Amino acid sequence: MNPKHIICYVILLSASFGSWASEIDTPYSASSLEMKLHKVEGAPVYYVIGLSGVPDAANEGHTSNAGFVVTDAGVVVFDALGTPALGYRLLQRIREVTDQPIKRVIVSHYHADHVYGLQAFEEHGGDPSVWAQHLALGYIGGTTDSQGEDAERRLAQRREALFPWVDERTHIVAPDHTFEDEMTFELGGVSFMLKHLGPAHAPADTIMLVKNYGVLFSGDVIYKGRVPFLDSPETDIKRWLRGLEYLAEMKPTPRYVIPGHGMPSEDVREAITTTRNYIDFVSDAMRKAAEDLVPFDEAYEATDWSAYKDMPAFKASNRGNAYRIFLEMEADAFK
Ligand SMILES: [Zn+2]
Repeated sequence: MNPKHIICYVILLSASFGSWASEIDTPYSASSLEMKLHKVEGAPVYYVIGLSGVPDAANEGHTSNAGFVVTDAGVVVFDALGTPALGYRLLQRIREVTDQPIKRVIVSHYHADHVYGLQAFEEHGGDPSVWAQHLALGYIGGTTDSQGEDAERRLAQRREALFPWVDERTHIVAPDHTFEDEMTFELGGVSFMLKHLGPAHAPADTIMLVKNYGVLFSGDVIYKGRVPFLDSPETDIKRWLRGLEYLAEMKPTPRYVIPGHGMPSEDVREAITTTRNYIDFVSDAMRKAAEDLVPFDEAYEATDWSAYKDMPAFKASNRGNAYRIFLEMEADAFK
């Protein structure tokens, strides 16, 4: 056994000592997470909320949100969480609510924290069709020219960081249906709209609007109550802001948003504004530094981060976010 795995076991044993009784078996290693199921009032829309922080042994990789919509003709799932075990737990939650078959899983974007759970739907959830915007194919095997997260490297990293929930058996499930810009579909009298807003946070960023109930699944285009993650080679700030603009102009305004990370909100405009303000703030600070030829470290230290420094994920993401934007602004300045 790899020494890292032994350390993992020790951490797991000590972490779960107090809550051993609540361990839940899955075909992919036991989980000690409660994974509380929430429901949108007045709508057959359910969701689970990820924990803050980067995926690690303590949160078992449960850092993103996911949800599902129950109709009379089947279930539509949005995102599948960050490990097969978590996907299986979500599946269990769905089965607590309905016996309807799971018809579709819509993937907001292909990043590890949202897609490894697809394996559980494939192997134990009746193998529903998986839908994503077509740039997601770039994640699977370079079939598009998008510069996605390096899927193989990420999987190797997660096999270490999230062992035993991600292991040698974990594989990435590809979408079997893709769309380009926008698509609508209906199931059991409920209308769904998918819209591509990427590349923003990731190439295939997709939102899903559950039209009958005005519920918006925003994926990682909206972050609520935590610092967004901009530090990825594929992040495109300008398009991201355009995507937020699109959401702000949506008519009628959705009455509820379930973001990719962080807490859902009934104030959709405020959730959009919070994400936009953060991106604007970092962009303005870094643009000025890049134009004035101030080195990054100096610019970072000189920026007043007090509005954000107490937010979850600030420590983990803020500096990397700023650096990523600084590089983008620097490239712009020399154009
Ligand atoms: Zn994410």
